[in-house]
Amino acid sequence: MAERSCEVLAFGAHAADIEFSCGAVIAKHTHRGDRVALVHLTLGEAGHPRMPVDEYAEQKKSECRQAAEVLGAEVRWLPYADAALPATPDVELVLCDLIRELRPRIVLTHWRGSFHRDHALSHHLVMRGLALASSRACQRALPAHGVERVFFPENWEDPQGFRPEVYVDVSQSYDTWLAAASKYALFRGEVVPFPYRQYYQSLAFIRGAEARCGRAVALMRSADIWKTAQDFLP
Ligand SMILES: [Zn+2]
Repeated sequence: MAERSCEVLAFGAHAADIEFSCGAVIAKHTHRGDRVALVHLTLGEAGHPRMPVDEYAEQKKSECRQAAEVLGAEVRWLPYADAALPATPDVELVLCDLIRELRPRIVLTHWRGSFHRDHALSHHLVMRGLALASSRACQRALPAHGVERVFFPENWEDPQGFRPEVYVDVSQSYDTWLAAASKYALFRGEVVPFPYRQYYQSLAFIRGAEARCGRAVALMRSADIWKTAQDFLP
C-alpha cells in the first residue's frame, strides 16, 4: 500500500529553523493525526563558536531527531554544508523529488527577505523545487505533484518585507513546542548569545495578543499566481 501523503512538508535551511519558528503549528497538525515531514537543507553544523564542526553535526542530528519525536513529525536532512548551500539545478531536482515523494498539501519554508544567505537561498531553491515538482514537463522517477498552499513562518533572520498575514492559534500546542525546541542547545542559550528561547516565546505572546488568543504563530502567504474570486465581500 502506498504511504499516505503529507499534510505539511517544512523545509528549513538549518536544523532548528523550522522547529523554533513554527514547531507549535507542526505539533498541532500531528496531534490532529496529520502526517508532517521536516527537511533540513543543512544541519547548521558550522554555527557553534567552540565545538568542532563534525562534533556539532552529530549533536544537531541527535537534537533534530529528538525534537521531531516530541513534535510527532518525520525528519530528514540533506547532505549540504552549512554556510555553503549550493545554488545549483541538481539541488532543485533533489527538492522536486522530495515533494513528489511526500506529496504535501502545504509547504512551509523561509521567506526570501533574509539577511542569512542560506535562508534566502533555501527560499529560492524550494520555490524552484515546487515549480519543477508540479511540472509534467519535468520527467523524473515519480509523477508531478502540485501543492495547494505555501507559507513562510516568521523567523528572526528573515524580517525584510515579512508581513504576518496568517495567524495560527497554538495555545494548545505551545508546551509541546517548548519541549521540542528545548532539545536544542541553541534554544537553551548554550551556543550563541542570541536569546532564541526568549525571542520565540515572546513572539508567541505578541502574535497571540494581536490575534486575541493565548499564543499564536504568524506566517506569510506565498503570492498566488491565480487569484480566487469571491462571490461577495468575504
Ligand atoms: Zn538558520
